[in-house]
Amino acid sequence: MTRLVILGKQGAGKGTQCVLLAAHYDIPHISTGDMLRAAVAEGTALGLEAKAVMDAGNLVSDELILGIVRDRLSQPDAEKGFLLDGFPRTKTQAEGLLELLSPNSIDLAVDIRVPDDVVTVRMLERGRTDDTPEAIARRLELYRAETAPLLDFFEVKCHFTAVNGLGSESEVQDRIVAEIDGRE
Ligand code: AMP
Repeated sequence: MTRLVILGKQGAGKGTQCVLLAAHYDIPHISTGDMLRAAVAEGTALGLEAKAVMDAGNLVSDELILGIVRDRLSQPDAEKGFLLDGFPRTKTQAEGLLELLSPNSIDLAVDIRVPDDVVTVRMLERGRTDDTPEAIARRLELYRAETAPLLDFFEVKCHFTAVNGLGSESEVQDRIVAEIDGRE
């Protein structure tokens, strides 16, 4: 059983690393951003509600996010473990997650560290529809205000580590795997 949370700014490489890690550990990759984009593409009520919020670089409500994560974690494939990508992003979400998992917890939270100027260039280059300069600035602002304080939360509540997110995909992957395999 491996329950992992991958933290980091947008553009830090969480998605790319999670795809590799999910294959390596044979656990599902659960990305709230991917689930929201799928809902937008399908035109569901959830998608319609989320689209404008996402395009502006704002955060979708904690209630909505906790609802989709609760549903996803209750599916059978999540029994063997999971990788959470892009969640939690707020204190309310982090507390909601630990409550959902109780009495178990997560095995390790890994923060992928990359400076703001590097993630900004990466986001502009990937060119997603929500990667406008305004939305990118807003997301970094929200990251600082809402998500960065979670690092302290995870440090206190469970095992936590940070890795340098600069370098090639495989270099970063090796650093993360070393932390996961080396955990107590
Ligand atoms: P991401 O794919 O993680 O970059 O997420 C894309 C967008 O989806 C974000 O900019 C938010 O608008 C929304 N989103 C994804 N995950 C969350 C979350 N955990 N809490 C709130 N909003 C989220």
